[in-house]
Amino acid sequence: MKKLGLLFTVLLGSSCLFAQKTIIHCGKLIDGSSDKAMKEMSILLDSNKILDVKKGYVMPEADEQLIDLSGQTVMPGLMDMHVHLEGEFSPSHYMDRFVLDDIDVAFRSTVYAKKTLMTGFTTVRDLGGSGVNIALRKAIDGGWVEGPRVYTAGKSIATTGGHADPTNGMRRTLRGNPGPKEGVINGADEAKEAIRHRYKNGADVIKITATGGVLSVAKDGKGAQFTDEELKAIVETAADYNFVTAAHAHGAEGMKRAVNAGIHSIEHGTEMTEEIMELMIEKGTYYVPTITAGKAVTENAKKAGFYPGVIVPKALEIGPKIQGTFSRAYKKGVKIAFGTDAGVFPHGENWKEFIYMTEVGMSPMEAIQSATKTASELLGISKEVGTIQKGKLADIVAVDGDPLENIEVMEKVVFVMKDGKVYKSEYAKPQ
Ligand SMILES: [Zn+2]
Repeated sequence: MKKLGLLFTVLLGSSCLFAQKTIIHCGKLIDGSSDKAMKEMSILLDSNKILDVKKGYVMPEADEQLIDLSGQTVMPGLMDMHVHLEGEFSPSHYMDRFVLDDIDVAFRSTVYAKKTLMTGFTTVRDLGGSGVNIALRKAIDGGWVEGPRVYTAGKSIATTGGHADPTNGMRRTLRGNPGPKEGVINGADEAKEAIRHRYKNGADVIKITATGGVLSVAKDGKGAQFTDEELKAIVETAADYNFVTAAHAHGAEGMKRAVNAGIHSIEHGTEMTEEIMELMIEKGTYYVPTITAGKAVTENAKKAGFYPGVIVPKALEIGPKIQGTFSRAYKKGVKIAFGTDAGVFPHGENWKEFIYMTEVGMSPMEAIQSATKTASELLGISKEVGTIQKGKLADIVAVDGDPLENIEVMEKVVFVMKDGKVYKSEYAKPQ
């Protein structure tokens, strides 16, 4: 009896509550690996694992569950390599820092996480917040909250007054000196210490702000903010803990230093030169464009009072450039991993990046691969997710229609499965 009780608990605790074996019929399948969509395919699942992918419609046995997506295009769970799940920009954003407790931020973050998952993003990289993002990841992993797999940086690392110094723009008595524990460093030793604090706090990845940024209350939006020595210390210490590293960068000098130091990805990359692109290709550095954020800050800067005054000229200068940079980097052959900076604009609108990427020359198939296979490679989890292949985890989404013909269908993901569990099932059933 005791044994049976245990077995029952184990079954209930597993992510697939209905049937252990499931077959998904796919009208079209974009598996993330092949450059062509395949028609009339079946995905065989055993609990949360992909058992096999077969041609034609495999019929289920009596004890197997069928999910009939024969009218849809099925693809791997989407991955956004640059989000901020703790917040969402609004005119009250800068005041929120003074009136919201961590617990307020936490409640809101659960809503943003669920929205993100329901629009088809089953994995995200959270590139910086207060550290609530680490608790959010734990809550999602523990099954308390519905959301994507989160790989989080915890708190971003900046230099004093730099783009992620949390006391920027505050009055003298509040400015203080945050220090490495709060992600603010000066010199190589503090850089190492900051990485070790991220490790201790439970971060999964490292984010640094290699140049000034648009949305911090500071004058400079693009100048270099780390020395070569500091960057070297960051990259080497991060490697000791197996951290993937990301560098926010707008201006060329700070970007070049970060690439030279061996950072894994450049975020935004606004003023990326031909020389930097070549360097990135040589070093295998990924580019995470965040075109959607560029468009959003440009629009918001035109609305009176949306941002503090010091931000407006930076947003109007930098925001409109990112799509052009993406286009040049893509044509040059830089590796592109999909990332939006969601939070700078409303969560759940991550799909817009697909439109902006394809508008300037990337094919829909390449855009989808950047948000699946390539993103999984950047995070070093391509053995588990990123493609629909035998042995991978069952992160599977679907849209009505064919995104290769009309990329706008990415706006409405109608089926979402993460780790074998169905979170959304709103597809048109076949007649
Ligand atoms: Zn960001």
